[in-house]
Amino acid sequence: MVTDAHKVAQPLEVRHFIGGEFVDSLDGKTFDSLTPIDNSVVAHVAEGSAADADRAVAAAKGAFDRWSTMSPAARKKILHAVADGLEARLEEIAAWETRDMGKPLADSRTKDVPRAAYNFRFFADYADLAGLHAYDKPWEGSFGYELREPIGVAAAISPWNFPLMLLTWKVAPALAFGCTVVAKPAEQSPVTASLLAEVCRDAGMPDGVFNVVQGFGPDAAGEALTRNPDVAAVTFTGESATGKAIMGAAAGTLKKLSFELGGKSPAVVCADADLDAAVDGALLGVFLNQGEVCLAGTRIIVQRPVYDEFCARMVDRLAQWKVGNPFDDGVRVGPLVSQEHLDKVLGYIELAEEEGAKRLIGGSRLTDGDLALGNYLEPTIFADTHNGMRVCREEIFGPVATVMPFDEIDDAITMANDSPYGLAGMVWTQNLNTAHRLARSIKTGNVWVNCFFVRDLRLPFGGYKESGVGREGGEYSYEFFTESKAVVMKL
Ligand code: NAD
Repeated sequence: MVTDAHKVAQPLEVRHFIGGEFVDSLDGKTFDSLTPIDNSVVAHVAEGSAADADRAVAAAKGAFDRWSTMSPAARKKILHAVADGLEARLEEIAAWETRDMGKPLADSRTKDVPRAAYNFRFFADYADLAGLHAYDKPWEGSFGYELREPIGVAAAISPWNFPLMLLTWKVAPALAFGCTVVAKPAEQSPVTASLLAEVCRDAGMPDGVFNVVQGFGPDAAGEALTRNPDVAAVTFTGESATGKAIMGAAAGTLKKLSFELGGKSPAVVCADADLDAAVDGALLGVFLNQGEVCLAGTRIIVQRPVYDEFCARMVDRLAQWKVGNPFDDGVRVGPLVSQEHLDKVLGYIELAEEEGAKRLIGGSRLTDGDLALGNYLEPTIFADTHNGMRVCREEIFGPVATVMPFDEIDDAITMANDSPYGLAGMVWTQNLNTAHRLARSIKTGNVWVNCFFVRDLRLPFGGYKESGVGREGGEYSYEFFTESKAVVMKL
């Protein structure tokens, strides 16, 4: 049954959150936010200028002394209250996440919002337990130790594909380690950052510790944050091209940078793999979240003896995936985030055919009934592809898989690494030696063997090559959001 749960009686008014208050832009400007479900307006959003970004930074700077000198245990109490607050409002927040960017409601409910709460709990506990190094007697009668101090105001700039989950992955560690924050959510998915601000306020977070400035990137609020001299660090997730622009803009004030960028990840399926598990894992790896996943295993590299069988099974299974209104039960693929993005992905489908790839399934826009109003696309698989094709080199960021055959494991390694990106790799094999060999040889920041998307927040997260700069997670976030000081004493 098609639901109209995505509809709103009146568009939500989304404002900036600065110094503990919800405020309009100084120049009063707003923009409309559309739901990809039917392209109707669901929110009027304050459009931040450089001046709005600057006043958010000033608020964060003003709150820094108080927050940074609180004990980790005191901060932990507030951050746990934030996690509780997110869970208490789970249904409302999940519905907005789905309305804003189109992911299935079941995923928003069971993955995105619970993980956002977990991000707060994990980093609050981690910061409370984090230790320091001390070294006895670098020379006689002395000892040395390390101090960690919060780096200052951190700007957290995030994308639209996991709006709350990725924002909290940045904000939670920054706050837990004592920084104050200005967040700039993606313009396509502004709402849940604003709901998070309400939750933080209601959890008793002091004014100015967490701020949200809404709006766009270039020549607007986003870029202003990357140039503001009072911002000490920028943690950014988004496109590789945007990462390069931010690195240039931040150079003038030598900010600390952490970038989680684009991907074109290989999924290597060996002939000895558990084929059922590999088929399901590979499909999930590409089509989860409409394929709008940086980690997506879009280049599926399959050993020749099982290649035909693997392709046939993928097509059979994918045909059972329901595409439709993401509020409907059983829907696994919702609409793409915007009409502009849908056009981009359709362009790549056309290109794949021009480049000689063989379309096995999907590839058309869905226009039955109400779906005609939204940005729906059939999940698509192309076989007989190779790394010379643009569709195998460029990030499509939609529900499009390319499959290619390989003969020897060495060939698979070469093909997997033949990419400007290096975010993630997946390996499907039952042979332990092959698993270790591939895990070691694939040049990506994450490798999953016989699984996909399993995250342990203590492990480093980031990418090789054009997929990122630096790592976040556990001690890596601790390192990023703090300055280290060496103190040596002669007694
Ligand atoms: P994007 O780079 O267009 O935008 C991301 C954010 O940056 C938005 O908030 C945007 O307003 C802001 N921005 C844009 N230009 C800016 C500028 N010049 N200065 C400051 N801010 C600016 O990315 P997107 O389309 O929102 O997200 C999709 C991309 O994100 C894909 O490439 C995807 O692979 C990547 N991504 C990476 C990861 C990861 O962990 N590596 C996770 C999710 C998404």
